Parts: sequence; structure tokens; C-alpha cells
Amino acid sequence: MIPLHTLPVLDPTATCDTCAAKCCRLEVMLITDTGVPERFIDTDDWGSQTMARLDDGWCAALDRRTMSCSIYRQRPLICREFEMGGSDCLEERLAP
Ligand code: SF4
Ligand code: SF4
Repeated sequence: MIPLHTLPVLDPTATCDTCAAKCCRLEVMLITDTGVPERFIDTDDWGSQTMARLDDGWCAALDRRTMSCSIYRQRPLICREFEMGGSDCLEERLAP
């Protein structure tokens, strides 16, 4: 039997509809090419690419009016794999 504390935390009541896109303030590395437009990409001196963030702390690709992703079909792999209601999501939702 798997010890309960090793199971991933999942809260089905945590949805993006009740969240101000908190995960879109995290650093998002681009590890595959999903077609993110260049204007949303920051490249460091070593060539590593991340989603650019604006002064308010949120990803440059976030639509500030709707607080939803403006490049949803081209969003990075990390964003695709971020699980709504998963432990990382729940941690972000608790952040100030
Ligand atoms: S995935 Fe989680 S943290 Fe991200 S917007 Fe949805 S509910 Fe909020
Ligand atoms: S690319 Fe879209 S889903 Fe990913 S952090 Fe930016 S706004 Fe959020």
C-alpha cells in the first residue's frame, strides 16, 4: 500500500475561474518550441529562454483584462503540464 503522504495533493475545488492567474507569475522556462511569439520571450546571456514578465510580475502573454493566456494554443510546455488543483497550483493560490 502507498503511504497517504506520498500521494499527490489534488483539490478539485481549486479552479482557474476562482484564481487571479497566480501561476502566471512564476518563472516559465522554454524547453521546447511551441511557437511562443518572440516578443514574449526573454533570452539570457547564455541563451536560456523564459517567458518575459512585466513590472506587475505577471507573464507578458497574460491578457490583463481577462487574466487568461493570450497565447493559449502556443503556450509553453511547462504551462501545459501545470496541473489545476495540483500541489504546485495549491501552493501558488496560497501565496500573497
Ligand atoms: S492552475 Fe492553479 S494557480 Fe494557475 S490559474 Fe489555475 S487555479 Fe490558479
Ligand atoms: S504563457 Fe500563458 S499560461 Fe503560461 S505563464 Fe504566460 S500567460 Fe500563463
